[in-house]
Amino acid sequence: MQQEKNAAGSRTTDLVSMSDLTVTLSGFLGTKGWLSGLDTRPYARDWLDRFGVEPLGVARPTGTAEVVKACGKAGVAVVPQGGNTGLCGAAVAGLPNAVILSLSRMTAIGQPDPDTGSIPVEAGVVLATLHEALEPHGLIFPMHLGAEGSARIGGLIGTNAGGSHALRYGMMHDLVLGLEVVLPDGTVWNGLRAVQKDNAGYQLRRLFCGAEGTLGVVTRAILKLHPAPRQRATALVVAPDFAAAVAFGTFLRHEAGEFLSGLEFFCDLGVGLALKHLPDLAFPLEKRGAVYMLVELTCGSPRVPLDEILGFSLEQGMEQGLVTDGALAMSDAHRAHFWRLREEQPEGQRLEGEQLKHNISVPPGKLAEFIAAAEAICAGMLPGVRINPFGHLGDGNIHYNLTPPEGVAGFGGEAGEIGQALAALATEMGGSFAAEHGLGRAKIALADRHRSRVERDLMARLKATLDPSAVMNPGVLVDSRPQRISFE
Ligand SMILES: Cc1cc2nc3c(=O)[nH]c(=O)nc-3n(C[C@H](O)[C@H](O)[C@H](O)COP(=O)(O)OP(=O)(O)OC[C@H]3O[C@@H](n4cnc5c(N)ncnc54)[C@H](O)[C@@H]3O)c2cc1C
Repeated sequence: MQQEKNAAGSRTTDLVSMSDLTVTLSGFLGTKGWLSGLDTRPYARDWLDRFGVEPLGVARPTGTAEVVKACGKAGVAVVPQGGNTGLCGAAVAGLPNAVILSLSRMTAIGQPDPDTGSIPVEAGVVLATLHEALEPHGLIFPMHLGAEGSARIGGLIGTNAGGSHALRYGMMHDLVLGLEVVLPDGTVWNGLRAVQKDNAGYQLRRLFCGAEGTLGVVTRAILKLHPAPRQRATALVVAPDFAAAVAFGTFLRHEAGEFLSGLEFFCDLGVGLALKHLPDLAFPLEKRGAVYMLVELTCGSPRVPLDEILGFSLEQGMEQGLVTDGALAMSDAHRAHFWRLREEQPEGQRLEGEQLKHNISVPPGKLAEFIAAAEAICAGMLPGVRINPFGHLGDGNIHYNLTPPEGVAGFGGEAGEIGQALAALATEMGGSFAAEHGLGRAKIALADRHRSRVERDLMARLKATLDPSAVMNPGVLVDSRPQRISFE
C-alpha cells in the first residue's frame, strides 16, 4: 500500500487559472484519473438527487496530495467523494468551481493483524468488500448499514457513520485507530498508528471523523477489528406501542448485557410500504402489529446460552405486557429475512414517492416521548401526513421520515418549518437533529438555529485554522465565510 507523499512546496502544481488546472490535472491523472463534461454525471448529484451542480471535473487519483495542492493554488474547491451515499448532500459540488475528488481507485486492503485486532486500508475500500475480505480470518469490522454495498471507508469516516451495530461497537470514531490525511495545503499527516491508547496531545484522528471532508482528505486508515461472533440469536418482536418497545429495550440491555449487538425498531406503516413496493419480501409473522423490534445477541464463544437468554427475555416481555408476539430465527435464512425487513424500510418509503427525512437522536429512554410529541407537531402542520419512524432503538437514533397523505403531492413550504420544529424538540430533549448523517449542505441552517454560538464559533475557528482558504468542501458542515467567525 503506497503512502501519500507531501505535496506542500512541490513544483508540479504552480498554477494560476482554472483552465491551467484542468490541463494539469488531466495531464498527470490521465484518462482513467480525470473525467470532465458528461463523464462527471454519475458523480455530480447526491443519492437523494437534491444537491449537486456539474463540477469542473472529477479526479480519480491513486494518491491525492498533488490534486489537493493543485486545486488550492488555482482557488478551486475540493469535494472528497466516497460512495456518494451520504444523505445530506455533502459529497457533491455546490458551485461549478469545484473538483470532485473520488477515492474510488484507492481500494487496497492490507493484511489483518489478529494480535492487535486491526487492518490497514485505503479510503476508497467499499465497506461490504472489507466485510468479505475479513471472512476467512475470523475477524469482523462491525460497521453495518443499508448502503454498505457502496459506502467507502473515507465516506464512513467523513460522516462518522453509526449504523445498526453502534450500540455494541460504537460509531466510526470508535473503530478508527489511525489515519493518514492530506491537509488542505497538500501536507500529509501520517497518523497511521495501530494503538487504542494514544494521548500524545489532541485527539487528531477523532477530529477528522465527522469532518465531512472540510478539513482534509482521509487517504488511509487503520481500522479496529473484533473477533467474528461464532454464535447469534435473533428475534423479530412485536410491541403494542413505542413506550413498551423502549421499556423492553431497557430490560434487554440489563438481561443480555454485552451480548446485545442489535436493537432496531420500525413500525407497521413502514412494513406496509416495504411489502407494497418489494414484491419478493414476505411478512414472517402470523399477524401484523404496531411496533416491531429486531433483537440480536452475538458472542465469540459457542458456550454462552444466547438462545436461552433471548427466549427468557421474550417470555418476561410477554408477562410484563411489553411484547405481544415474536419469533426466534431458527436458521440463517430466517435471520436474513428479519434483517431484510428492517433494512428495506428506507427503500419502501423511497419507492412510495416524495419524502421528508430527519435523522434525530434522543436519550434512548425518551424515544417514545419524542415520537408522541413529534407526531402532534407534524399532524398539526400537515394533516394526514404519514409518519414512518424507524431506526436504532438501542441508541435512541430515529430516522423520522414523513410521506405526504395518500394522493397529495408535495410538502410545499412546510418542509423547512417541520424540520425546524423537530430539531427544536430533539434539542429540548437533550438530543441531536443530526444523529449520524452529518450536516452536509442540507442541515447547516438547522445548526445555525439549534446549536449555540459558542459551538458554531469553535467549529468556524477550527475550519479557519486548518483550511484558511476554504478549499476543502466549502458550504458543507460549517459556514466558513470569514465574517461569521467571532472571537468574543
Ligand atoms: C439506504 C441507505 C442507508 C443508510 N443507512 C445509514 C445508517 O444506518 N447509518 C449511517 O450512519 N448512515 C447511513 N446512510 C448514509 C451513508 O451511507 C453514510 O453517511 C456513509 O457513511 C457515507 O459513505 P460514502 O462513502 O457514501 O460517503 P459520501 O457520501 O461519498 O461522502 C460523505 C461525506 O464524507 C466526505 N468524504 C468522503 N470521502 C472522504 C475522504 N476520503 N476523506 C474525507 N472526507 C471524505 C464527503 O466529502 C462527504 O462530506 C445510509 C444511506 C443510504 C443510502
